[in-house]
Amino acid sequence: MKIMRNGSTPSETPNPAYFTGKVRMDTPFDAEAPGSVGGVTVTFEPGARTAWHTHPKGQTLIVTAGVGWAQREGGPRETIHSGDVIWFPAGERHWHGATDIHAMTHIAIAEAVDGSRVDWEQHVTDEEYLAG
Ligand code: MN
Repeated sequence: MKIMRNGSTPSETPNPAYFTGKVRMDTPFDAEAPGSVGGVTVTFEPGARTAWHTHPKGQTLIVTAGVGWAQREGGPRETIHSGDVIWFPAGERHWHGATDIHAMTHIAIAEAVDGSRVDWEQHVTDEEYLAG
């Protein structure tokens, strides 16, 4: 058994190529082989969101604070709240983040394929973000 203590790793700022706005990442976790699941707690300030992306084995989000938005390609923008659990199937193009006026924190969990859990694409434009 291994316990990753709260505060044992510094908060990190993700690569701005893959995010818009102010985003913080805390307490990343990563299974040891043969496990492949891992994740991180992500906090988005109002207006902040991921770029468009897919996950090779899908992704689970658990919203732990605030109010956010999530959208799959071709679907409506959904409002997500603390306590909601969201599943994106493998290969489904999508984004997630805060609303324009609320911060949102979620735990993001995904399995890796060849060491990668996400395939990044272009930023979500303000028009896409606000259109809903
Ligand atoms: Mn995702």
